[in-house]
Amino acid sequence: MVGATLLALIALGHDGRRIAQLAVLAAPMVLWLAWPLRSTQMRRLRTLLVWLWAIGFALDGAVRAYLLDTYQAAPDSAMVLGAAANTNAREGTEYLWMHWRSAAVWCAVLAVAGVLMGMFARRGAVAPSVRPARWAMALIALLLLVACAAYASKPWRRLHPAIFWTQWANSVHTLRSAWADQQKQRDRLMAQARSIAPAISQAGPSTVVLVITDSINRDNMALYGYGRPTTPRLLAHRAQAGGQMAVLKNAWSVDASTLPALRNMFRFGLPDSDNPPHVLALARAAGYKVWWISNHDDLAIEQQHARLADVVDMVNRTPGRASASLDGEILDCVQEALQDASTDRKLIVVHLMGAHPHYSLRFPENANPFDDDVDAVENGLVKDGRSAWVRRFRQEYDAALLYHDFVVSELLQQTRTAGKPGDYLAWMYLSDHGQEVGHVSDRAGHSPSTASGYRIPALIWRNRDALPVEAEQRPFRADWTAWVLADLLRIRWNGQIPTRNVLSDAYRWQAPEMPVAIESFSR
Ligand SMILES: [Zn+2]
Repeated sequence: MVGATLLALIALGHDGRRIAQLAVLAAPMVLWLAWPLRSTQMRRLRTLLVWLWAIGFALDGAVRAYLLDTYQAAPDSAMVLGAAANTNAREGTEYLWMHWRSAAVWCAVLAVAGVLMGMFARRGAVAPSVRPARWAMALIALLLLVACAAYASKPWRRLHPAIFWTQWANSVHTLRSAWADQQKQRDRLMAQARSIAPAISQAGPSTVVLVITDSINRDNMALYGYGRPTTPRLLAHRAQAGGQMAVLKNAWSVDASTLPALRNMFRFGLPDSDNPPHVLALARAAGYKVWWISNHDDLAIEQQHARLADVVDMVNRTPGRASASLDGEILDCVQEALQDASTDRKLIVVHLMGAHPHYSLRFPENANPFDDDVDAVENGLVKDGRSAWVRRFRQEYDAALLYHDFVVSELLQQTRTAGKPGDYLAWMYLSDHGQEVGHVSDRAGHSPSTASGYRIPALIWRNRDALPVEAEQRPFRADWTAWVLADLLRIRWNGQIPTRNVLSDAYRWQAPEMPVAIESFSR
């Protein structure tokens, strides 16, 4: 019974040959149960040790099964390691609060397994007075021999939960300390940017605002045709701005989580082997003063991107703010930056929480107009068989989008009214990745395995040179953002690739390689 329960849990979290390897690694302690023990104390000790051992393997299996099921990822994949290293206590709590259902299910499974294994481990496999049969002894000896071989082999041994998770914790720690101080890397990026010598091709004052949000799926924006009125203010801007504003209908992120998404956005979507420049370093080298105003509290983002700016304002880090997680908190800081009189070339990067889970924290209390009556969206979800809690998440998600609409519109309004009449002003808004909230599956959260995880909004506004009408229909990939931003900044250098700038006539779409099959990038 102990062995069978354990095997079931191992099989949940591993596959193929791995199941056999883990089973062999787990075997010795389980086989100990076949040893007749006379002393009650020894039997108690054995029960405890066998139980702890088995629970270790069971926990390992359950955690792996959860990650596999939710993110199609192994615990030592870059995505999971990066997320674990980059999180803090508050975000961790929010995550658990959002995903407590899955956590509860897995805890229940573990509890049942724990009770079963405890009960049967206590009994032992044979009564103290009985001598096991000869064939049984031989079988046990053989299994122990295989186990010895397993422990002697390093790659095999490394799969043992105790060794694997110790190493995992070390990797997380190493990753975090590698992030802790990247001053050298930033100095290198600045030196590289200066050697590229980008130049501003337009005379006069210039203010560019880049708004990066989190976890916004464009399918939930009325601006993109959603059934609930989630974006009344952006729609008003759109009606009023005419050719100055472009809504990129077919915008896609190529990453389903923040870290790689932002890395790609700022590094031109080029691989590390190309040693790509950082667009913030380029802007500074060209003569822009750069601000980073963020509602995130995020070590990796701060080290890899934010600290390249001249002014860094991590609003969320200020203790004692009651509504610290609401994006509206950053509006004053942005206004201050827009009014800064020390320069007339400004690039202001704003990093919002958007609708990052947990959704109910992303809008003010009692500001959910979508939880009252049954509308077409709700009916559609019921028809698609979405569970009550996913439908509830959808209401909260849409309420977060409604509040988000207010913040984003304010940021656009602030930009539109900045500077003196005649100053050049530009604004770009996009999400780092999408979100699955019952769109194609019965779950809510980041989603590397469904298209919803990559469907993002992207908006551009500028007050000079009407935006090309065709741009709205062109498919757009977020890892090419820096090419567009360079255009909005009006900076030029050798080696620019106009075919990747969605605003250029030379734009040429190339479908990105995605972890999920996308039927059409033009939808
Ligand atoms: Zn994100």
